[in-house]
Amino acid sequence: MRILITGAAGFLGSHLCDRLLAEGHEVIGMDNFITGSPDNIAHLAGNERFTFFKRDISNYMFVPGKVEAILHFASPASPNPLSASGYFNLPIQTMKAGALGTHNCLGIARGQNARFLLASTSEIYGDPLVHPQVESYAGNVDPIGTRAVYDEAKRFAESLTMAYHRYHHVDTRIVRIFNTYGPRMDLEDGRALPNFLKQALLGQPLTVYGDGGQSRSFCYVDDLIDGIVRLLYSEENMPVNIGNPVEMTVLQFAEAINRIVGNKAGISFVPDARSARDPQRRQPDITRAKEILGWEPKVSLDEGIKKTIPFFKQKLGLV
Ligand code: UDP
Repeated sequence: MRILITGAAGFLGSHLCDRLLAEGHEVIGMDNFITGSPDNIAHLAGNERFTFFKRDISNYMFVPGKVEAILHFASPASPNPLSASGYFNLPIQTMKAGALGTHNCLGIARGQNARFLLASTSEIYGDPLVHPQVESYAGNVDPIGTRAVYDEAKRFAESLTMAYHRYHHVDTRIVRIFNTYGPRMDLEDGRALPNFLKQALLGQPLTVYGDGGQSRSFCYVDDLIDGIVRLLYSEENMPVNIGNPVEMTVLQFAEAINRIVGNKAGISFVPDARSARDPQRRQPDITRAKEILGWEPKVSLDEGIKKTIPFFKQKLGLV
């Protein structure tokens, strides 16, 4: 296939480029680098099946030639207000990427009769009242809360995707992505894994927000990409959760990272610099992914963190 990936220089977008190129596809990447990095795709420069365009996908998009699939991964994604690349500090761009960017991609998919895959998120469940989260759960989102610019943009993107599917018969996919980590994460984006791993490697205490009793379920990037590619190749039009169902508290997560890295500096409990709307629990129900895609994660937390450490060491100048 000839595949367009928006957000190609981002954490997930760049891994998707690698995986789809490795499978023999031709990939056109687009990114405007507001949160993605040229470093993430620098290794693809000599690849004759990879073309890159620096574009803001919220504007009109011109795609040279025919594409068979479009994967829309462009969006700021970190909720941390302390981070310049978080959506808190890029609120309008975030809403435009989810709304106008999705509309542009769907227009191309319709015009070219291409398959469309939307990168959605566990954030569409908000601070969930149903646990674990099943795809049929409609969520608990405050439309004017601090996370709303991301959550509502993605919810709108899902609605628009289903509208194009139902009304224009575009062949669409929706993946709801849960917390993911691995090489090429932005060390400065303020999320739990980059903060904790950086702090642990530098021998500093890990900054756990609040009492660390809130939970998350962390998936290694290779597992996540495998689930997304299976969904792309499937015939499933309804949303599918992809994430690791192993739930842990943030405090347990921090302690695990200290143990794996061998950091003796411990934990520092700090006031939550974010909002009162930090979701308290999050865990994907992956029954549908198992049944429809034959997918479940394979990489344990210990293995995943060990695979991530070399990238962090290199970025921190520790090698
Ligand atoms: N967190 C933390 N310390 C940090 C960064 C994050 O305790 O330095 C917590 C945060 O409060 C949240 C969890 O880790 O409960 C996951 O945050 P992240 O930003 O990774 O993503 P989210 O799941 O909130 O979108």
